[in-house]
Amino acid sequence: MAKRYPIEPIVSDVLIRPAELAALRSSTVRGTFFVQTWGCQMNEEDSEQMGLYMRQIGFEPAASLREAHVVLLNTCSVRKKPEDKAFSLLGELAPIKAGRPDMVLGVCGCMAQLRADEIRRRAPHVDFVVGTAQIAQIPGLVEEALQRRRFAKRLHLPERKGAVVTDLPVRHVGRKTKLKAFVPIQYGCDKFCTFCIVPTTRGRERSRPTEDIVEEVAKLAAQGTREVTLLGQTVNSYGKNLAEGRVPFSRLLWRLAEVEGLERIRYTSPYPRDFRADLIEAIRDCPKVMEHVHLPLQSGDDDMLRSMRRLYTREGFLSIVDELRRTVPGIGITTDIIVGFPGETQEQFEATLEVVERVRFDGAFMFIYSPRPGTPAAELPQLTYEVKNARLQQLAELQNRVSVEINQTYVDREMEVLVEGPSPKNPTMLQGFSREFKMVHFPGDASLVGMTVIVRAIEARLWGLIAQPVVSPTRRSL
Ligand code: SF4
Repeated sequence: MAKRYPIEPIVSDVLIRPAELAALRSSTVRGTFFVQTWGCQMNEEDSEQMGLYMRQIGFEPAASLREAHVVLLNTCSVRKKPEDKAFSLLGELAPIKAGRPDMVLGVCGCMAQLRADEIRRRAPHVDFVVGTAQIAQIPGLVEEALQRRRFAKRLHLPERKGAVVTDLPVRHVGRKTKLKAFVPIQYGCDKFCTFCIVPTTRGRERSRPTEDIVEEVAKLAAQGTREVTLLGQTVNSYGKNLAEGRVPFSRLLWRLAEVEGLERIRYTSPYPRDFRADLIEAIRDCPKVMEHVHLPLQSGDDDMLRSMRRLYTREGFLSIVDELRRTVPGIGITTDIIVGFPGETQEQFEATLEVVERVRFDGAFMFIYSPRPGTPAAELPQLTYEVKNARLQQLAELQNRVSVEINQTYVDREMEVLVEGPSPKNPTMLQGFSREFKMVHFPGDASLVGMTVIVRAIEARLWGLIAQPVVSPTRRSL
């Protein structure tokens, strides 16, 4: 069977990790969707799965592609003809989408897997491109495209620029279960990585006042939310320039842990240089802070890191990982990696592979570098797509092997899982995430949704673990 690799979705400034949105649910009809399919039976099956996901987040099938609110093109790369057809349809959809700004357009399937950069270049009106192994991310990407559009509208108002939006409406991840919610705590970024447009589009770093965040989380918890994910471009540099004085991120975590009814706190994404001892101690000592860190590496080579203007070194990154593992044994660590950054030599790419081997990340979002107009790196001489793609394949092969090996070490171990709902593929199985951010499937009925259960892992997969429940649920959501 062909290997399946994660590829980069078009959205670069991801506010919401797609993996965390697997349990999106909606009981109200929010619009319509249409999946256009080319290719083999596998694609037909994948399209059916996409339809199920779309229904779960409140979209009904549309009578035709042109009137759908969400259009998904499930592409095929076996021959040139279906590829040409897909590009031709993308061309036809450009003026339609221009006249319907609320339309969301995603490209999935084999062509998306192999030619993401080209799709991005030839069809900039596409909202996201997602590979064959990433179908479960589609609800999250659709949601993200809709949210980003709403935020963009707000943030583009001149009087908002530089402002911190407070008193945000409560936004649940799962509208039905209210189990998990995202809470922005910081906007903009001061880091100016040479590949990233965020500091230009979202302005300089601003933090929300602590009590404003606490109030929002308390409201969420009172409505039944058990887990919050704190969002910021460099979330752990939270707390500078606040009227109340500097508030370290760790202090915010401890403060939020006092919120009654809240069980779990996650955050994304921390910046390596700003990862300090007090945060590591909070992960160790605060039971509500989950034992998982998503720590973006980007490259394992110091010259590349300098060229990206990442403000840490390979050794600095490795020492944070060592300290995390020493202080919090068993912690889950995931990362982001860019391959094919301008000027990256084979040796420098191999330095990244070495770090991946050494750290053994639980998982990674692996991206092919693609120039963003308006960023310094876009002006540099670019590597060819073939080189970048070959490196992505090599890296993904290594990371996938490591992920499976790590998941295998969980077999026979007990894990605490917050039950989010039935698995979309098999309704007799429930799914949820462990404290270490492992996706876990186990047999059970819907009455367990919203509860925290202890399970024992019995089988490892690339995506997570299959388990059996061993202890009765400890809590029920409101
Ligand atoms: S840290 Fe770098 S990559 Fe992240 S938002 Fe800031 S500039 Fe962009």
